[in-house]
Amino acid sequence: IKIKITNIDIPVAFASAFEGEIIRRKDMQVEFDGSRVDCAELVHTCDASEVEDHKITVVGPEVDEMEEGSKNSIAYVVKVAGKNMQPDFEPVIERKFHNYINCIEGVYHTGQRDMQRIRISHAAYDAGFRIKHIGEVLYSQVKNEFDAVVDKCEVVIYTDPAECTRIRHEVAIPIFEKRDDRLANLTDESVDVYYSCILCQAFSPSHVCVVTPERLGLCGAVSWLDAKATNELDPNGPCQVITKERPINEDLGAYEDVDEAVQKFSQGALEHVTLYSIMQDPMTSCGCFECICGIEPFSNGVVIANREYAGMTPLGMTFSEMASMTGGGVQTPGFMGHGKHFIASKKFMKAEGGIERIVWMPKELKEFIADRLNATAKDLYGIDNFTDMIGDETVATDPEALVEFLTEKGHPALGLDPMM
Ligand code: SF4
Ligand code: ZN
Repeated sequence: IKIKITNIDIPVAFASAFEGEIIRRKDMQVEFDGSRVDCAELVHTCDASEVEDHKITVVGPEVDEMEEGSKNSIAYVVKVAGKNMQPDFEPVIERKFHNYINCIEGVYHTGQRDMQRIRISHAAYDAGFRIKHIGEVLYSQVKNEFDAVVDKCEVVIYTDPAECTRIRHEVAIPIFEKRDDRLANLTDESVDVYYSCILCQAFSPSHVCVVTPERLGLCGAVSWLDAKATNELDPNGPCQVITKERPINEDLGAYEDVDEAVQKFSQGALEHVTLYSIMQDPMTSCGCFECICGIEPFSNGVVIANREYAGMTPLGMTFSEMASMTGGGVQTPGFMGHGKHFIASKKFMKAEGGIERIVWMPKELKEFIADRLNATAKDLYGIDNFTDMIGDETVATDPEALVEFLTEKGHPALGLDPMM
């Protein structure tokens, strides 16, 4: 018999009401920051004999031994065992850590994998909250929510900096890379089904993401493998199978099956959605897109802005201004929200000519995606170092200067047909 744990044994409250709580620097006792020091969060499938249920271990200093206001390392490994557990479920469970840790009163969490950031407030610390309680929360929630696959769960939390470095580099990163490689070898043509995701309908009632191997969810957090695992874990849940047996136009990524699915899951708000076009029946957006791309008429191209970019784009709009015309679950031809990794995809705007339409991106985003985008450009068009031809805020934030730069670089978009 499986028993649901309703009371989590921690000295502060645990409720979804605390999810949006932000802890400012002056209110924090300590923080952990994966962008500055070695951190990781990981679910690891083990043999039942290797897992002692409800055992929580802290390896390294507790909060009491950390300097007030300091930045520290943390790595937690949640060891799970169960006869129905599969390694494909690991990232789905991991993705929930953000939500679990954020529900703790006085504790804040962002990011994932080895880039998470956690703050513990003075108030939570004074109430007796310690590192081990993070383990208590992870244990209880994983057992609660994933009881169909997790029979035993043990949590090891490392705060010793050398151990965090070892866990991050020798254990976590190789696992993350293996997961990414599995996905990198999958194409839309090589699979029999896609998946819908409607997790965001809580905020955006008619929004449906269609997730394919080459086009991840616009939040950047749901890959095709994740959607598949979510469906296996919860067959009536947010991710449903979409067949692809009746193609209408493969260049557009239009299918009767996809249309039927979006009609059904949007309660009739959407009729047609294409997977590879920004102009014809583009996919809708909720509000959590990592990036937005929008057409730039002077260059026949598109500009992409990422959420972190606060400056101006050559469209005369900032990211938030672009967001105000893209979100809300409505189709806005010419504007589309998408995940960062979709930029290097061979399916990105395939209907309009593909990635050679990209004329501008913030420098930071361009550097982030450069290796993969350049490889795609080489494959598709035989162009070397394509990102050198793409403008950024250091060369232009207005269309005239941008076109001048593109002309000088011989950017291929200038020679393409206008998009409208
Ligand atoms: Fe799912 Fe799309 Fe929301 Fe991501 S943005 S959680 S893929 S509905
Ligand atoms: Zn969303």
